Amino acid sequence: MSDIYCPACRLEQPETHEYCLRCGMELPVQILAAARAKSTRFFPGLKLGDADLESGFLRVSCYREDQTFESDEGSVTIPGHHVRFSIWDGAQARCALSVPESEARDLATFITSELDRVLQ
Ligand SMILES: [Zn+2]
Repeated sequence: MSDIYCPACRLEQPETHEYCLRCGMELPVQILAAARAKSTRFFPGLKLGDADLESGFLRVSCYREDQTFESDEGSVTIPGHHVRFSIWDGAQARCALSVPESEARDLATFITSELDRVLQ
């Protein structure tokens, strides 16, 4: 189904519902909207030389849609349609780079085609 469960009664819910089918509790749909707008994966690094991080990893976040957050200082909008790469050393980000969605698609195609290419 949807992997969405009511926080009160644990019944699995259709993705489109704002209230629980069984107990009527309001579902945290704003969290779900944020989760749909952004997804993140971590990829462990491979240490090949002395200059490489001991336990580094690459974090890749896909920002699908603009997200606006309200705070006491005002509203902050994180633009969508980009992919952010960051290199982490334990709990600390060393550097980050964002690329537009079109470049990220090119990157994915490049990696897939290169890894699938038959070597002569
Ligand atoms: Zn419920």
